[in-house]
Amino acid sequence: MKCANCPNDAMYVYRITKTESVYYCGKDLPSFLEDRRKAGLLNITEAFTEAKEEVVETLSITKKKTDKKTEE
Ligand SMILES: [Zn+2]
Repeated sequence: MKCANCPNDAMYVYRITKTESVYYCGKDLPSFLEDRRKAGLLNITEAFTEAKEEVVETLSITKKKTDKKTEE
């Protein structure tokens, strides 16, 4: 997914409705979404996840988060 404001890969997804979403890179994220981002409410796109994973690999952090509850 590309950013709505520039050709960069989007890092955040702002879901307006169930079917409509707007994508932003970190640079173009509107200020009114900053609070949501900080609160972890913005869906993060794959590009962001991949970038994050690269950073994690670079830092040689191999911690696995497996303590999430998987009860259904
Ligand atoms: Zn952008």
